[in-house]
Amino acid sequence: MSILLGLLFSSLTGFAGYKKGALSESGALGAVLVGTAIFGFGGWVAGLALIAFFISSSLLSFFKAEAKQKVAEKFDKGHRRDLGQTFANGGVAAIVAVLGVIWPGDWWWLAFLGAMATVTADTWSTEFGVLSKHPPRLITTGKLTSPGTSGGITLAGSLAAFGGAIFIGLTAWLLLGAQQLLGGALPVPYGRHLPLILVVGGAGFFGAMVDSFIGATWQVMYYCDSCHKETEQSLHHACGDTPTRFIRGLRWLNNDLVNLISSVAGALFAVAGALLLI
Ligand SMILES: [Zn+2]
Repeated sequence: MSILLGLLFSSLTGFAGYKKGALSESGALGAVLVGTAIFGFGGWVAGLALIAFFISSSLLSFFKAEAKQKVAEKFDKGHRRDLGQTFANGGVAAIVAVLGVIWPGDWWWLAFLGAMATVTADTWSTEFGVLSKHPPRLITTGKLTSPGTSGGITLAGSLAAFGGAIFIGLTAWLLLGAQQLLGGALPVPYGRHLPLILVVGGAGFFGAMVDSFIGATWQVMYYCDSCHKETEQSLHHACGDTPTRFIRGLRWLNNDLVNLISSVAGALFAVAGALLLI
């Protein structure tokens, strides 16, 4: 029953995302798969946390869209999210929700929120970071770099990362409170405690920094000879999918995989943080 409801909710969200131009056809399919798993196995509080990520990220992408257009071609967000991107953003949270049914316990809920907080932090920091008046600095060396470069961080982007992560923690805390008021059983006792917000906020911020660190070090980077620009894309979307050439990084470590790895880092941070603090 909950899986059917999950399918219904995520189909509506996926269709709306496709209509609004936030998702490609394969991206809409990915949203339905990820959403059904999270709603169906994680329950409605987990499902609404996913929707909070999706709606806030979509709204932010329309915020000052013209100013972002100038730097958008450099990173992989300048077009509709595809299947790989929806799995990169929601895949870890979906797998954790399924594993939580197989191995019930407190851990899955924290891991789920840590993963959701990471992808939200990462999206928010990208959306605000590209608008920064100051050029970003590489997270590894502190050297100035150009906007949109993987591994470049700004103060605005970092604050937005923390804000996005806290937003997921606060949303979960409020939803758990509502669930308790409605007489539902809480997935874990953590819902009653304010530190949940801080643990989830810290997890998302940590995950976003891991994302930047890998972006600056091992992530594969290409060069588009037609635009004379560095890009994360093997086919440069900005100039009609021109094939690019490899310049550095690990060839298999693309942007989607980096997002996936940083979600796992955020999930582990949340579990560890809760064990230490709550
Ligand atoms: Zn190009």
